[in-house]
Amino acid sequence: MRLRHKPWAQEKIEQYPQYVVANPEMHKGKWHEPFEKKQPLHIEIGTGKGRFITEMAKAHPDINYIGIEVYKSVIVDALDKLIEADLPNLKLLNIDANDLEKLFAKNDVDRIYLNFSDPWPKTRHEKRRLTYKSFLKLYENILKDAGEIHFKTDNQSLFEYSLMSFSQYGLLLKYLSLDLHHSDFEGNIMTEYEQKFSEKGNRIFRCEVKYQ
Ligand code: SAM
Repeated sequence: MRLRHKPWAQEKIEQYPQYVVANPEMHKGKWHEPFEKKQPLHIEIGTGKGRFITEMAKAHPDINYIGIEVYKSVIVDALDKLIEADLPNLKLLNIDANDLEKLFAKNDVDRIYLNFSDPWPKTRHEKRRLTYKSFLKLYENILKDAGEIHFKTDNQSLFEYSLMSFSQYGLLLKYLSLDLHHSDFEGNIMTEYEQKFSEKGNRIFRCEVKYQ
């Protein structure tokens, strides 16, 4: 993603602690606290400009959502959408996924979404891929038992790598589509990247996997 530096982003984030959670460590083990209702929690890691998570939160008021994004200059676009929609079941977190375990305890999260994660194609960057085994371990440590990862991307190499990584970790495959937009999957909500790359004619790959 080409990043446009927004020097005002930090200040804007600080103005909206009701949307971008300010001291997330405080909620470890009790993530229902910042939400209006105690209900299942689904998080998206690498939420980008936030269309997916905002539309999911609108479509599923019975689920709490958190969109996680490392870059301030990007998360402010998601923040704009949340300010506009003012949803009681959506929060944003400006953190690096590597820090997930500092902020979430085992059983805090019911489902993880990974959408169009950065592919990091060079082998020496494998550990940065959000489907690398060390991330799968991290996710296991914050998910409920039998928690799920739902993953989609247009990048075939990353998808194949991730299926191997899931399989080697012992995750169970629940759903697989090698062409999401021409499948019978219902209720798909497009991300910004999905819109852009499907308009270019790219196929979208999607899977759901589950911890045992
Ligand atoms: N999911 C969005 C979409 O589909 O439109 C954005 C996709 S973009 C290729 C990947 C996003 O993941 C970027 O905004 C990037 O900053 C974020 N990201 C990558 N690694 C991350 C990490 N370790 N922790 C949090 N966010 C991360």
